[in-house]
Amino acid sequence: MPHDDIMHQKARYLIESGRIENLGNGIYNVIGEHGTYTIAQDHTGKLSCNCQGYLNKGRCSHAQAVALLTNKKRLRPKPR
Ligand SMILES: [Zn+2]
Repeated sequence: MPHDDIMHQKARYLIESGRIENLGNGIYNVIGEHGTYTIAQDHTGKLSCNCQGYLNKGRCSHAQAVALLTNKKRLRPKPR
């Protein structure tokens, strides 16, 4: 299986198990398997994470999960 698919599945799992906490101002907490990570979105919409995987590769399942979540919200806004 290509690595990207694994990361995508992990990202979906994080969303579906409710492990993402929106702290506001573009800051999210993601409760991963090995700890809680902080994902920050800058004014351009780019996400960065403080986990080792992101530091090494510039991408990770946490940042991808937040990206999927925020895309979803944009497509289907929750009615108040
Ligand atoms: Zn991460």
